[in-house]
Amino acid sequence: MPLHQRPPEPADAAARRAARPAIVYPTGTLPTPNMAMLETARQSMTRVSEVIVPPRDARAFRVTRGQFFRIVCTDGPQVGDLNLWSAHDLSERFFSGKTRALHATHVSTGDRLWSTMPSLRPMATISHDTLGWYGFDADGAGIHDVIGTRCDPYTNRLLSGTDYDFCCHSNLARALAGAVNAEPRTVEHHVHDVLNVFMCTGFTRDTQQYFMKASPVRPGDFIELFAEIDLLGALSACPGGDCGTTHSSDAAACYPLRIEIFEPDRTTLADWPWPRQSDYHRGHGADAVASR
Ligand SMILES: [Zn+2]
Repeated sequence: MPLHQRPPEPADAAARRAARPAIVYPTGTLPTPNMAMLETARQSMTRVSEVIVPPRDARAFRVTRGQFFRIVCTDGPQVGDLNLWSAHDLSERFFSGKTRALHATHVSTGDRLWSTMPSLRPMATISHDTLGWYGFDADGAGIHDVIGTRCDPYTNRLLSGTDYDFCCHSNLARALAGAVNAEPRTVEHHVHDVLNVFMCTGFTRDTQQYFMKASPVRPGDFIELFAEIDLLGALSACPGGDCGTTHSSDAAACYPLRIEIFEPDRTTLADWPWPRQSDYHRGHGADAVASR
């Protein structure tokens, strides 16, 4: 028997399928960043530091509120797996699922990276993306995905029965452990679903399965983000390289990535509305249920 055997269709199947799609979160209701103000700020910025991420490894970095940071392709097509945390509270971290729901499966200039509840605020705003021209291709694939999780040794063991220690999950765990002076196994639960920087992915038209194809990124390309809060970040140079064929092994050609951090003229950001944690009261209806 096929694994995905379908039951017979009801008589009104066509009518049920004809329901009109509604955008879950209409983008017009989402507060939009002032990109003109960001553009003025980025024109004033100077580079203050950089971090090189070696292939099949990760590095942590810190960015203060108001700084910009770039992830740069330097030597060859390479995908990066990005984690972000509040520099002051590791429990506030990048929420890829809500970012996907609020924006799209893939993000670019003007989109924001949102943090987990109960904060739910922009952690960073994408201020420039040299791959913004790509859009969605004939296969339905786009760049910088917030669909995927991160390659990890647990799934690899599940599927192949072997162990590989340099998946993005492990690389990020080691980088975070180094940043907070701990052992990887004690902090790996803080590692979370990533922004797949430069990764080219989509869902197959016929079976809606997650697919990847070789990243179109080339040396000199970068994605640039504006830090809306103080951030601790970690970036892994995925063992999948350009993620055109395979990952979770040393088979793919891999290259370093460079993180560049920029300081703008702060007077250009004098009127920037720094995001606060959500004002929701967090009662969750407990009082109303108790008084029923
Ligand atoms: Zn990876």
